[in-house]
Amino acid sequence: MSSRSAAKVNQYFRQTIPMMVKNNVPITPPYYTLWYSYTSGDIPELSTRIDDIVQRLGQCDRYMCDILLDEFVGHAAEDTLAQVHSNINQVVKSMHASTESAMNHTDHLNQSMSADIERLSQEASLSGTQSAHKMVTIARSFMDKTEDYRTQLELQSAEIQALKAKISETEKQMFIDGLTEINNRRKFNDDIVLYTASAEDTCLMMVDIDHFKPFNDEYGHLVGDKVIQTVAKTLERICMQTSGAQAYRYGGEEFAVLLPNANIQAATQFADNIRERVSRLNLTNKKTGQSIRTITTSVGVAQFKPGESLEALLERADQYLYAAKHAGRNCVRAAIN
Ligand code: GH3
Ligand code: MG
Ligand code: MG
Repeated sequence: MSSRSAAKVNQYFRQTIPMMVKNNVPITPPYYTLWYSYTSGDIPELSTRIDDIVQRLGQCDRYMCDILLDEFVGHAAEDTLAQVHSNINQVVKSMHASTESAMNHTDHLNQSMSADIERLSQEASLSGTQSAHKMVTIARSFMDKTEDYRTQLELQSAEIQALKAKISETEKQMFIDGLTEINNRRKFNDDIVLYTASAEDTCLMMVDIDHFKPFNDEYGHLVGDKVIQTVAKTLERICMQTSGAQAYRYGGEEFAVLLPNANIQAATQFADNIRERVSRLNLTNKKTGQSIRTITTSVGVAQFKPGESLEALLERADQYLYAAKHAGRNCVRAAIN
């Protein structure tokens, strides 16, 4: 990888999007990361998995990509992507160095050619021979060529810069969920460690869309996807209004919310606000104009107890989510200590 040329990187960059279109995968940055890794072959196990999936199912669609993102980008690809980033830096540096030296070289060539031309022009006007004129023409065309070469190098250098920006953006997007573009589970796993280690009080909410299986059966998966996106954005918007609150797509139709510096009472109120806002969403199928029935969520809330494991915290929030489902859904249940 370290000796990967700029031309190769460029080639992977260009192959990635057509590959995504062919597999019916939305062009969002997280999926782009996955498919870039595939075209570049950076993660051989990932490439083998995608090849297998395509052979078995005909394509590696979004649902399969979500599984692969979780598995590979979430774990093994972290180092590889950091490596890609540092390699891109190296490519850029070496491109700069070679561009610099090529430019110096062409400058030097131009100067010596100019001197030769000057000399030949004088000889030509002195003698008036045709051969001297010919020499001048050849020399001028050579100068034009070196100028072309210089322009080409400059363009190439600009392209590498754009590529570098793209890769670094892709790296950032490792923490974004493919479908909803809110924080993904990987970000949640990182944040919950930080929040419980640093904030005074941290509350965790597990938010799950009610009866979503029959919803999909009634309206279809594509409408279901849109609903997941809308609920995700709603959660994200609510969280943006409260300092430190963050929403994550935990998986499927389930979300997690972290609320720092809040006790269980405040978190329960926050959770009920989420529940109410989602239940008030007015949803319409844009394609058919058909209005879509109310979406509700159930929420389980738990406050982190200093010293408890994160697994135990998650389990408690999950237990209360289950209690909310059991109580009839569209409600909040909290672990009041
Ligand atoms: P409950 O109220 O108990 O949560 O019922 P439920 O039907 O929501 O729960 P269940 O776990 O039985 O089913 C979850 C459904 O969510 C099944 C699956 O089709 C749907 N789902 C999960 N992820 C996605 C997704 O990315 N897009 C769509 N459209 N549906 C999804
Ligand atoms: Mg559900
Ligand atoms: Mg669920």
